[in-house]
Amino acid sequence: MRSHETPFYFYDLDLLRKTLAEVKRCAFDGNEQGGRYHVHYALKACHTPEVMQTIFDAGLGADCVSGGEVRAAIEAGVSPDRIVFAGVAKADWEIRYALQHDIACLNVESIEELENIDLIAAGMGVVARVCLRINPNINPHTHKKITTGLSINKFGISLDDMMGAVMRCQELTHISFEGLHFHIGSQLTDFSPFRSLCVRISQLVHQIEECGISVRHINVGGGLGVSYEHPNYYCMPDFEGYFKVFRTALALREDQHLHFELGRSVVAQCGSLITRVLYVKHTSQKEFVMVDAGMTDLIRPALYDALHKIENLTALHEGRTERGRYDVVGPICESSDVFAEDYELPLCLRGDIIAIRTAGAYGEVMASCYNLRRLPGHIVSDGK
Ligand SMILES: *Cc1c(COP(=O)(O)O)cnc(C)c1O
Repeated sequence: MRSHETPFYFYDLDLLRKTLAEVKRCAFDGNEQGGRYHVHYALKACHTPEVMQTIFDAGLGADCVSGGEVRAAIEAGVSPDRIVFAGVAKADWEIRYALQHDIACLNVESIEELENIDLIAAGMGVVARVCLRINPNINPHTHKKITTGLSINKFGISLDDMMGAVMRCQELTHISFEGLHFHIGSQLTDFSPFRSLCVRISQLVHQIEECGISVRHINVGGGLGVSYEHPNYYCMPDFEGYFKVFRTALALREDQHLHFELGRSVVAQCGSLITRVLYVKHTSQKEFVMVDAGMTDLIRPALYDALHKIENLTALHEGRTERGRYDVVGPICESSDVFAEDYELPLCLRGDIIAIRTAGAYGEVMASCYNLRRLPGHIVSDGK
């Protein structure tokens, strides 16, 4: 690994394959409704080609939030009937592109957008299959910046507007109403909000079906959390517990399908950001470990106050026993370019190789060239 220029992302594809096997085991095995469960990968979490390919080779569908992602899924060989497209405000070209490729479903986030999709579909002479994304006003009790299902959030159609939107779908000639879509937030480790979501969904489906309109597809989004504290011990997210919530709390009819859109939980643990210590700077207040990766490579600490586990691989390798407390910071000209404060590590020295763990999701995809930096590269474990 020393020969690679730092910083770069490292992806463990073996762990990824194990994770995918666990997803499938928990979603489908011994589940009599399993034939009607569909797991899509939310590729915004990580679209590094080798990672995406491994996931799609395992048979997951694709959950996209932009036209570019729909294109990436199609180019990665995902069958269009396994691609769904959400996105809080879709541009005309994105809608047109999705319809041209006849993807499974557009998840519509407002009545205004619904009208526009009908107009575009009419112009193309096609009928657009849509699910309505409903904002269920459920608090996922996660970080404010990754909460999406509260009525103050910009996402989805409000509960008050749902029936109006469903009725509008019946009137519009180039819209086919397929069902309901939800996504309440990300990094949920307590599952009670998912249970509340199931209760809410059952009520809403009942309300719609009482009007003689069938809800064939229910999409519960993503959000399953991972352990940022103990990635070595909890390298596998609790897929078992997650799918069990839906299996027990959401009864499907014979002709009803349940869709999941997992992003973070699939890829987070298989990625690390590898960086090198440039300087260990002593001041009267602090000891700073200054690494060559910054918020341009991994923005989660700056954006979401996320704390990733940090390991000094060189010190571990050498078995250094002395320890210190450090602020681990990057080289970017921003005070928020901090990976951890007052963080205990083995004695750090210039040139040490550091791993910032659990960085597979919302890591490399959010990298930028701010400060005219080079984008971090990546290597994968396969050694092919
Ligand atoms: C981001 C997103 C997901 C994936 O969320 P995770 O928390 O990464 O599982 C799923 N569905 C939609 C609509 C999203 O925007």
